[in-house]
Amino acid sequence: AKDDGKNTYHFYTKEMTEQAFERIFMENNLREALNRNEFEMYYQPQYDSNTNEIVGFEALVRWNHPERGLIPPQQFIPVAEETGLIVPLGRQIIDMATTAIAEWQRSGLTKARMAINVSAKQLRDASFTQTLSAILDKNQCLPEWLELEITESSVMKNTEHTIKLLHQIRRRGITISIDDFGTGYSSLAYLKKLPINKVKIDRSFICNLPEDKDDAEITKAIISMSQSLNLDIIAEGIETDEQRAFVNSEGCYMIQGYLYSKPVTYDDMTAKLKGEA
Ligand code: C2E
Ligand code: CA
Ligand code: CA
Ligand code: CA
Repeated sequence: AKDDGKNTYHFYTKEMTEQAFERIFMENNLREALNRNEFEMYYQPQYDSNTNEIVGFEALVRWNHPERGLIPPQQFIPVAEETGLIVPLGRQIIDMATTAIAEWQRSGLTKARMAINVSAKQLRDASFTQTLSAILDKNQCLPEWLELEITESSVMKNTEHTIKLLHQIRRRGITISIDDFGTGYSSLAYLKKLPINKVKIDRSFICNLPEDKDDAEITKAIISMSQSLNLDIIAEGIETDEQRAFVNSEGCYMIQGYLYSKPVTYDDMTAKLKGEA
């Protein structure tokens, strides 16, 4: 179909119709899904590769649709962001993830933090910090148990307001990490101004290690930069032992990826923690 004008036309038309349909489906159903509590959190453990202990969790949302089954976040988070529904959805996400970590902490199953993804639009919402505090109170979740993951690109989009907000959040004792690091072209000087604790090396740099020389150089540079700024560093998307060995050899020991565990449900994570305790 590639070199035939007519077929190409049909091909793209069909695809665009499907995309448009998909988009309308998402918009119409997201709000209802919120009311019906169809969103569910999965938790992926982060490990210290020196001790093989769990040192953190990342909360990852899924849409458990009654007919379609589990819908991955990349299919609905962008729509939720564009429509503003990410604000109420984000509230539910924070509520569920803080409930989980408070439960595990209080029952002595872990001393690790829960990392929650926060999008640019959520940060721009005027009531963000108030809502966050209210949810923490309600769930009796200590700020020390919480980490917020903010993408490098969303920090760059918001600038002054975001920097102020991040300082407020930091002062409460919540950890802040920069997600997808290396994809947003921010400078070292800029990073120094931000009240951040931790940098996550994006999976796109990890997946072709150790063979890809460019990715290897970028990964090395991110690790050494984090060390010089006294920031914690974690590699995400580690699938092979070679990838783990490579980042270890450069001084990065915190690991998240399928090599250790895929994201799992609350019940499965609870069972896993009980098994390890
Ligand atoms: P992200 O924040 O970069 O999350 C990491 C993604 O990599 C997750 O995909 C995770 O399941 C996946 N992953 C982890 N280890 C491996 C691995 O070893 N191999 C491979 N191939 N993948 C791995 P997921 O859960 O599909 O989430 C995709 C993206 O959706 C996230 O990327 C994040 O940008 C967004 N997202 C997920 N949950 C939330 C949420 O609660 N709130 C917001 N605002 N965004 C979310
Ligand atoms: Ca993340
Ligand atoms: Ca990432
Ligand atoms: Ca990402």
